[in-house]
Amino acid sequence: MKNISKLLWPTTCPFCFQANRTGICAACKVRLVALEIRETGCALCSKELSDEENELCCDCQREGRYFDGGTALWRHELPVSKSLYYFKYKNMRFLVGDYVGNLLCRKERILKEWCVDLIVPVPLSQKRRKKRGYNQSELIARQLGERMGIPVKEIAKRTKETRPQRTLDRKRRKRNVAGVFEVTEEVKEKRILIVDDIYTTGATIDELSQEMKKRGASKVYFLTVSIGQGN
Ligand SMILES: [Zn+2]
Ligand SMILES: [Zn+2]
Repeated sequence: MKNISKLLWPTTCPFCFQANRTGICAACKVRLVALEIRETGCALCSKELSDEENELCCDCQREGRYFDGGTALWRHELPVSKSLYYFKYKNMRFLVGDYVGNLLCRKERILKEWCVDLIVPVPLSQKRRKKRGYNQSELIARQLGERMGIPVKEIAKRTKETRPQRTLDRKRRKRNVAGVFEVTEEVKEKRILIVDDIYTTGATIDELSQEMKKRGASKVYFLTVSIGQGN
């Protein structure tokens, strides 16, 4: 199977799509280093802070959060943003093949610190999943779970169809996802890691975190591939 996919997808850099036998090309590697999320950001969501004096970003200060912490690999800028867009909307599943799984393992130290015992991907609605053929968050979650030896369970469901968050402003995003998730299993005393592709204002992940807490989770964290910038 691997060989077939190699024939179908001659090795290209998953970020700029130029032919490159070793995967991520040298130029993109340099760009990625500049986008890495460091531990100096918001104490809750890891977003870069505009004012170094603050411990929390404006969104986390303003909203209050149900999740207890979270982080991402990169800022949501080129070439990460384009790569994730293709992964999500252009059926280019191979993009998260090995590289995202391996790179997410860089967060091993913090995952150990959080003592995560269950990974839960952000669900798509049934309709959207059918149309897309896969849930990008689940693929990322499975890559991570396999490598880290942490179980992955799809215990979150969407109870109604919502508009895509990327088309809405902050206020509408929050309203759009209010009450949209159902957690189908008790997670008493569990430490949950929510996995998604992108964190923007945090509305979706926070809404799901709230449901996890209602079902008994003791802690909820998140890990995403990219995170938006600023407040
Ligand atoms: Zn490249
Ligand atoms: Zn924050």
